[in-house]
Amino acid sequence: MSLVAAVVQYPLPCAECKSYTSRPAAVIRDERKITCRVCGSVTRLSDQQLESLERTLEHMNVCGLRKDALEDTCKEAEEAVAD
Ligand SMILES: [Zn+2]
Repeated sequence: MSLVAAVVQYPLPCAECKSYTSRPAAVIRDERKITCRVCGSVTRLSDQQLESLERTLEHMNVCGLRKDALEDTCKEAEEAVAD
């Protein structure tokens, strides 16, 4: 497990109420599901969401965790998160 995956909070939308719940990326990747903090529903990640997560982590590994780097060089990664 990389350091980045362990510390990055990755937001995912609930399938039931559409609220976003953030969990460490490493936890989401291992469990492949997230429990909604609002309604408690369990949402399973699609293959596409897992791929987006992996891509985001790759970007962050390259760019580091500096805020300015994330906003500048890693715009693509943030778009993947919003997806
Ligand atoms: Zn929910």
